[in-house]
Amino acid sequence: MTTQAEIDAIRAETIAPQSLFIDGKQVAGSAEPMGVTSPIDGSDLTTIANATSAEVDLAVASARAAFNDGRWSNLPPAARKKILFAIADGIEADALALSILGIRDNGTEFAMAYKAEAGSAAGTFRYYAEAIDKVSGEIAPTASNTLGLVHHEPVGVVGAIIPWNFPLMIGAWKLAPALAAGNSVVLKPAETASLSLLHLAEIASAAGLPDGVFNVVTGDGRIAGDALARSMDVDVLAFTGSGVTGRKLLEASAQSNLKRVYLELGGKSPNIVFADAPDLDQAAKVSAAGIFRNSGQVCVAGSRLLVERSIHDDFVAALKQHAEALRVGDPLDLETQIGAVNSERQLAGNLSLTATAIKEGAEVITGGARILGQTGGTYMAPTILQNVLRTNTVFRSEVFGPVLAVTPFDSEEEAISLANDSDLGLAAGVWTANLSRAHRMIRAVQAGVVHVNTYGGADNTVPLGGHKQSGNGSDKSLHALSKYTNLKTAWIQL
Ligand code: ADP
Repeated sequence: MTTQAEIDAIRAETIAPQSLFIDGKQVAGSAEPMGVTSPIDGSDLTTIANATSAEVDLAVASARAAFNDGRWSNLPPAARKKILFAIADGIEADALALSILGIRDNGTEFAMAYKAEAGSAAGTFRYYAEAIDKVSGEIAPTASNTLGLVHHEPVGVVGAIIPWNFPLMIGAWKLAPALAAGNSVVLKPAETASLSLLHLAEIASAAGLPDGVFNVVTGDGRIAGDALARSMDVDVLAFTGSGVTGRKLLEASAQSNLKRVYLELGGKSPNIVFADAPDLDQAAKVSAAGIFRNSGQVCVAGSRLLVERSIHDDFVAALKQHAEALRVGDPLDLETQIGAVNSERQLAGNLSLTATAIKEGAEVITGGARILGQTGGTYMAPTILQNVLRTNTVFRSEVFGPVLAVTPFDSEEEAISLANDSDLGLAAGVWTANLSRAHRMIRAVQAGVVHVNTYGGADNTVPLGGHKQSGNGSDKSLHALSKYTNLKTAWIQL
């Protein structure tokens, strides 16, 4: 059990200015570094390098050289597996320091970050380490005078562009299967969440990952991220972030080498509560957590609550109670349940969308404002808006903050129609004790994951990917390996 004293000792440490990580070494960036501001109290934490496109090219060249000479790609899978296990061990050994570093950078509450960041990343490395010597190629059922073999080959160099809400967890979702399959990786963390991923590169190197196989280029997405997306030598780009950036990446691919681009672009996920839910108070409690944890900065957050009209008022009252009971504050205080919003920019966006919702007729049930301003940090009260119509901006646009939009429905058909009235389709929740209805809803709701009588929660065994404009290609599970491999056929005349 972690104590407050342990956390306080680590958080007091100063963080040295950070370099790029290229070819197994720290490389000082040539451009003016970027400041890192802590969302906890607005203090200056340190600086990160602002990689130029030439420095990104250097990282890609290092990854390509490592791939081509086979120092990683040609190792037997069992040998790669050992090193991936050692990386997982390294993450676990350093879990507390890694989590605190990440929280000082991005503001996620400790309880969530410790489990969902370091804990989850270690688990992901283990999952793909275990998998990699158990996936085989195929012998095709051809005529007896021919032999058709299907190989799964690594693609070569993978570019990974990572968001700031769960850098280690999402970084590991891309990195671990890409490395397990034998690829080299150049990873670009978000401007406001680079520190834990830079530390991960050191852990991987110490675990025996050969130089050049995993490079980290920090800095401005529009420069470093764009250079990675436009590189002629990156074979696959794996991205999690906004739809605006996702579109730019597809354009960059089209304008460069037609690299495959996998996108996970967030959602506006409906959480649908029927009057016949097994336990309405539990549903209210889990629904509150499903939108408010990590200040709503969760791609699968249940941000649209669709609730059957007969229970609407009681359910919203219960939800308000649970929301107001959540302790928002310093994410490194063990008593805190909801930490800081990632940045001033993000908080301003949350408040602006809330103001628009009110202008369009929504009623604030609780929250709606910045809080704890005296700390210098960026905090927002859990916010519930009711009377939200399907035509309203807050019904359609992802807030990516602690803002829940509530809309009543009268029938299962109307619930489905409201749920699917979105360009996005990442996640959904359905609360009902009726098994047939649950299965009907799973089929009818357009989303990559449908939670039933819970919201959120998953493990490495199941894929996570978006339908509609929430993206393409899934993270996690054995399916993710196919993103980082090419099929190659051998056709042999006997
Ligand atoms: P958000 O708006 O929530 O910060 P973004 O999509 O802008 O989401 O950021 C996700 C990741 O994409 C970050 O690592 C960011 O640096 C990167 N990024 C931002 N703009 C670009 C771009 N034009 N090209 C490539 N990567 C980018």
